[in-house]
Amino acid sequence: MTEIVREKEQIQTLVASYRTAGLRVAVVPTMGGLHDGHLALVRQAAKTADRIILTIYVNPTQFAAHEDLDSYPRQLEADRAACEALGLVDAIYAPLVMYHDAHATMVTPTGAAAMLEGEARPHFFTGVATIVLKLFHHVPADEAFFGEKDYQQLCVIRQMVRDLDIPIQIAAVPTERAPDGLALSSRNAYLSEDERAIAPQLYQAMRQAAHALLSGVDTGEVLGKMATSLMGAGFAAIDYIALRDPVTLAETDIVTSDTRLLVAAHLGKTRLIDNASLSDLVPR
Ligand code: AMP
Repeated sequence: MTEIVREKEQIQTLVASYRTAGLRVAVVPTMGGLHDGHLALVRQAAKTADRIILTIYVNPTQFAAHEDLDSYPRQLEADRAACEALGLVDAIYAPLVMYHDAHATMVTPTGAAAMLEGEARPHFFTGVATIVLKLFHHVPADEAFFGEKDYQQLCVIRQMVRDLDIPIQIAAVPTERAPDGLALSSRNAYLSEDERAIAPQLYQAMRQAAHALLSGVDTGEVLGKMATSLMGAGFAAIDYIALRDPVTLAETDIVTSDTRLLVAAHLGKTRLIDNASLSDLVPR
């Protein structure tokens, strides 16, 4: 049975024993509610790592007061069963406490963190950077795996690792999607049946936009049309539709196949995010 480790010292000792034995260790940080997107990270990690630690911790500091911290899916036994069935996870690190009562230090990223999600959710990347750095100390692995689903988060973590000289490699894994194109997410569980039927139109709109952009249609016109079609489909509000440089996330007027299209939109009470490079959106 896949072991669940609760204590920092215990997971540090386990990772140290692996590394002393010359084994390559991967860490896969998650907030649980495991789905195929998370398992894709584990499968990718298994290609290069000898041992894999999956972490599960719903991090309160990345939720604003009005957000879904209390209702966020918590299902440790089902998560353990999913890891067990996959057969690739050596231990689950599910700490009960990550912040002691007098915790008073946060990591505040700027640069790639200052835009898009950072504007829509001002506390978010400070919470993410702080918990990821702490998890890297608890699970000092050779390599950490993150999903492109949260592309800006990936950019912010790469930036933090570079800026703070953290001795870990960061690997990116492509977004896992449902057959109808909807990016898998723990938050999809919030969608009603009707909303679930509308949700794939986000990806369809991204594909149409990418096709038009790579055909040379004016950027403003394409993004405007995309917003109109999403609102027409039933999305309640759009936080952003953005075309960005794939590394810095800086705004760009030059459209290439690597340019990243990033979207955040509300469907009922659920906020969906998605992104892809233009070349991934247009079948070659
Ligand atoms: P979360 O549990 O939502 O914090 O996600 C944990 C990790 O899984 C993050 O690195 C996410 O980017 C990644 N992830 C979540 N959904 C997907 C997906 N559909 N495809 C690939 N990676 C994902």
